[in-house]
Amino acid sequence: MPVGESNPLVLVYHIDASDRISRVNAAWTEFARNNGGEALLPERVLGQNLLLAITDVTERELYVRMIRRARTGRPVQFHYRCDAPDRRRTFAMEIRAVGGGEVEFVSTLRHEEPRASVALLQGDEVRDDRLLRVCSWCQQVALTENTWVPVEEAVELLHLLEAETFPRLTHGICESCRAKWEQTDRASPAR
Ligand SMILES: [Zn+2]
Repeated sequence: MPVGESNPLVLVYHIDASDRISRVNAAWTEFARNNGGEALLPERVLGQNLLLAITDVTERELYVRMIRRARTGRPVQFHYRCDAPDRRRTFAMEIRAVGGGEVEFVSTLRHEEPRASVALLQGDEVRDDRLLRVCSWCQQVALTENTWVPVEEAVELLHLLEAETFPRLTHGICESCRAKWEQTDRASPAR
C-alpha cells in the first residue's frame, strides 16, 4: 500500500448510538485484508458492539470514557502504534460525534518504517499457554505488571527465541499511555 504525503492512509469506522459498529470505509477493509485482520473485515465487525469486542477491562473503560466525551462534543485525539511484524506504524486517531449518537473514529497514518520482522508478532507462530500483554496504544510489551518495553527488547529480555513456542498475546493499556490520556482529558474538561 503506497503511503504518500498527499494521500495518507485514512481508516474510518463509525459506531451507532448503541455502540455497534455501523460503518467502515474501503481503506479499512483493504488494510484488514492486507494485514491478516480477517476478524476485522466488514462482514465480521458490522453490527458488533465495539465495547464488547475489547477484552481488557482497563482498555474498555478508557473507550467508554472517550466515547462519552466525544458524544458531549469534545473530540478525542491521540497517537497510537499499529505495527506489522516487519514495520512500525504510527497513526493519529480522532474520535468525534457525527450526530444522532453516532461516533466516528478516524485513524490517519502518520509514520511508517520498516524493521527486521518480529516473529513474536507473526500470526502463524506456534503458541503455548503463557500470556504476554501488549499495549494497544504504544505496542510495548509488559515484562512485569508495571514494566513495559518495546517488543524487540522484550523478545531479548524474556529469551523468547530460545523456546520452541511463543507466548500468546493479549492486549491492554500501559501505565504511561493511561497517564497520557488522563492528562489530555484533564487539560480540556467538560464544559
Ligand atoms: Zn502504551
